Amino acid sequence: MRRGRRPKWMINIGKERIDILFKLADNEFSRHPERSHRYVKLARNISTKYNIPMPIKWKRRFCKNCYKFLKPGQNCKVRLSKGKVHFKCLECGQMMRVPYEKEKKEKRRIKIESYLIKKRANE
Ligand SMILES: [Zn+2]
Repeated sequence: MRRGRRPKWMINIGKERIDILFKLADNEFSRHPERSHRYVKLARNISTKYNIPMPIKWKRRFCKNCYKFLKPGQNCKVRLSKGKVHFKCLECGQMMRVPYEKEKKEKRRIKIESYLIKKRANE
């Protein structure tokens, strides 16, 4: 196989397949968790083979250690502390920490903007 970047159409198909696989994994989890784990494996195969980054939407839905599908409230604990989101995989005990600074900054921006609008309305 040729190494390096793949043509755009190939990447697009890959992205679509990853999305489909994760959707299936999400739907099947309550009935067949082992299938969900397999779908994650397949999605990861596509992502590594075609150099496609995992979509942000699904990035936090599988464990970085055992690569199992994570369903918050079922095999995954989600907690907030010190500006980070903690994901704990209950399959292997691995902790993932994701900062949410971006969301915090966004919130601050909205707050300041609404304040400015109010100020302008009063003038
Ligand atoms: Zn795990």
